[in-house]
Amino acid sequence: MLLNCTTKGCMKSSEAKLDKTTGKVICEECGNPIEGISKYMIKCLDSCGQIMRSNTKEPFQTLCKTCNKAQSLYIKDDKAYCKACNSQVVVGAAFFIGLKLYLEGKARDPYVG
Ligand SMILES: [Zn+2]
Ligand SMILES: [Zn+2]
Repeated sequence: MLLNCTTKGCMKSSEAKLDKTTGKVICEECGNPIEGISKYMIKCLDSCGQIMRSNTKEPFQTLCKTCNKAQSLYIKDDKAYCKACNSQVVVGAAFFIGLKLYLEGKARDPYVG
């Protein structure tokens, strides 16, 4: 089911996924959590299998047109690049902010990733 993103700069409706480890619902478009999701809705997502597979996949992967598959990204000079082939990957502004926060958080916490 489609949910409306609450992140500034995104606000798109997408097949948002439930992250069962945090209980948050993550927007497919930008990768940021969507605020104000009811418990009832979270139950619905859980029961219909709209769940993030965060154990098998790193968050903030996106399709690299050069590799033609989903790849992890890194940031250099405020642009996103594919970790596998080092091509620049064009991502939305909201996705980029989320990616940046994620990478910074990971760098800070040695126990993550
Ligand atoms: Zn979004
Ligand atoms: Zn690539």
